[in-house]
Amino acid sequence: MARYTGSVCRLCRRMSEKLFLKGERCFGPKCAVERRAVPPGGRPQRRRKLSERGLQLKEKQKSRFIYGVLEAQFRRHFAEAQRRPGITGENLLQILERRLDNVTYRLGFADSRKQARQLVNHGHCQVNGRKTDISSYIVKEGDVISWVAKSKETEYFKMAAKEITAKNIPPWLSLNVDEMVGRVITLPSRSDVDYRINEQLITEYYSR
Ligand code: SF4
Repeated sequence: MARYTGSVCRLCRRMSEKLFLKGERCFGPKCAVERRAVPPGGRPQRRRKLSERGLQLKEKQKSRFIYGVLEAQFRRHFAEAQRRPGITGENLLQILERRLDNVTYRLGFADSRKQARQLVNHGHCQVNGRKTDISSYIVKEGDVISWVAKSKETEYFKMAAKEITAKNIPPWLSLNVDEMVGRVITLPSRSDVDYRINEQLITEYYSR
C-alpha cells in the first residue's frame, strides 16, 4: 500500500503552520515550525501572494497531510462526499474523521495518525469484535473499536493503557479506559473537526 515516507515536519514547514503530525514532539521546543518557520528547500524565499487556485490547492494539500491520505484516496473520499446528501465539504471532513486510523488516534490509542495507521494496518484493532486492518474503513454510529486479544499482550498496549486518559476524547466518541474500548456514539459534525480547514476551498479545487 502506497504511503508518504518523507519527513512529516517538512509538510508543516511547506504549509507554514503546525499540522501536529508527530505526537508529543509537536508540543515541545523541538517542533520544526517553532525552530525554523521557513519552507523547506534552502534559503527563505520572498513570499509571493498565492492565486485563488493556489489557495485552493494549499487547503486541499493541508487536509491531506493532516489526515495522512494520498491523492487518489483523497479524491475517492471527495467523490463519496459528493454522492452524499448535504454540503460536500462538510461530508468530506466527516468521512476523513470517520476513517478507522483517525478514530484510533482520536481515542488515544496512538500519539499520531501515522502511528494509528500502523496499528490498524498491522492488525491490532478490531471493529465490533472483528479484526479490521483497513485504515480507510469508515466507522458507523454504534461501532465498537477495541484491540485484538493477542495485541493486549504487547509492550505497546501495556504502555498505551497506562498513559491513556478519556480527557481529550471528542464528544462523538466514548472510551472505556479500563477496557481500552472505544465506541462511536454519534457521527462527527463540522464542529468536531478541530483544525482550521476551509472545506469550501477544497470543494472549489475539485469542482474546476
Ligand atoms: Fe509539524 Fe509536529 Fe513536526 Fe512541529 S513537530 S513541524 S507540528 S509534525
